[in-house]
Amino acid sequence: MLKRVLIANRGEIAVRIIRACRELEIETVAVCSTADKDSLHCQLATRAVCIGGPRASESYLRRENILTAAVATGCDSIHPGYGFLSEDPGFAREAEEAGLIFIGPPPAVIERMGRKAQARALMMSCGVPVVPGSPGTVETAKEAEAIAGELGWPVLIKASAGGGGRGMRRADGPQQLAPAFEAARAEAESCFGDSTLYLEKLILRPKHVEFQILADSQGNVIHLGERDCSLQRRNQKLMEESPCKALSPALRREMGEAAVKAARAAGYRGAGTVEFVLDQAAGAYYFIEMNTRIQVEHPVTELRTGVDLVKEQLRVAAGLPLSARQEEVAFSGHVIECRVNAEDPAKNFLPCPGRVEFLHLPGGPGVRVDTMLYTGYTASPYYDPMVAKVIVQGATRLEAIRRMRRALEELMIRGFTTNQGLAYLILYHPDYMKGQYDTGFLEDHLEELLALEQKAGGIF
Ligand code: ADP
Repeated sequence: MLKRVLIANRGEIAVRIIRACRELEIETVAVCSTADKDSLHCQLATRAVCIGGPRASESYLRRENILTAAVATGCDSIHPGYGFLSEDPGFAREAEEAGLIFIGPPPAVIERMGRKAQARALMMSCGVPVVPGSPGTVETAKEAEAIAGELGWPVLIKASAGGGGRGMRRADGPQQLAPAFEAARAEAESCFGDSTLYLEKLILRPKHVEFQILADSQGNVIHLGERDCSLQRRNQKLMEESPCKALSPALRREMGEAAVKAARAAGYRGAGTVEFVLDQAAGAYYFIEMNTRIQVEHPVTELRTGVDLVKEQLRVAAGLPLSARQEEVAFSGHVIECRVNAEDPAKNFLPCPGRVEFLHLPGGPGVRVDTMLYTGYTASPYYDPMVAKVIVQGATRLEAIRRMRRALEELMIRGFTTNQGLAYLILYHPDYMKGQYDTGFLEDHLEELLALEQKAGGIF
């Protein structure tokens, strides 16, 4: 097994990784910015090293500082978590060059799947369905217009290097194409330093369904079922669940097999996610991208399968085989995750971090909370506003919904505003309760839900 892991991250995911390491009796080295010195991950790790200033660009994105810390503290490996440097092939490569094991897929695989136009081509070549679109990259708006004309409107112009919904623009007709193309190109250039674009048909009212996969160095590749992540705002997921109500057993099997095929074609190793959009009306699914890291919503899969995904990552990095074969993966009950963000939905989701004056976390049967919060901790304005994840499991979807409601009723975060009330109201929405929601749900119902919350004078 690994002996000492440096965790190149912060917040709840750093805490999550430390927990897995401690159970495996692996030592941990936390890194932190000057703003994070009192953070939980630093307190729980075997030791902590300050690597720079509060801005991510001064600390969590400073590859050389992190690698120096890892070497100086005698680490044998680096876990990148999600975000920050987790999908940076250069970082993975430099870690390997410094003699460290990068806990993730090989750098070449990160690179291959990170270029989405290339990943699309790879999927096509191995028979995994992709969204109808351009055969490769698209150079000019004129070329894009011709392709869109053949595909049919509306279309999405996407950045090949894209992520987090950036560098992505919709065009409903020829008049919108040129401005959308230029906007996507400018955003792609400024966010990723890569203005390569490609085109996809916009699937109307799809569900976002993703499959968790695991692969080891021995050639075993398995999937651990799906997550329905359709509840999103501006491509930011808010609530996820598993199973996805829209999948028939046959479709689920087919998509799971496609995810495994995708991972094999990519030469994958470790934990990853294959994302699809599901055209519910047509019963068709299409690959959109592969994420080559652990994801925020991984606990949904952990509760449903009992597989500890972070421990599997550590096993695979140490050269051990996966602990389960495909036929040994058992799925039980229904799981829902709710992300709690320090933000005010009524003020256009303005981030509003602050000091935690009082904290009470929900517990009881079927409830898990992943968070870095404690009473007296000050959530920093420098980083992502997500401060906690509440995950519940029930025997049925209805029980999971009711359990999440009561977990949110118990959760008390005093000191700053969160989206807790909005999430609570979604759990009572008739369409959500029926499982009839797609990626447009939140945008469609936001006003109505916010009005309800306001009328109630706040829910919590
Ligand atoms: P990013 O990496 O920027 O998040 P994705 O390709 O994962 O980009 O897309 C983000 C979200 O946009 C998806 O979750 C899905 O809801 C939506 N999306 C992406 N491609 C399509 C498409 N072709 N049709 C409809 N929705 C799409």
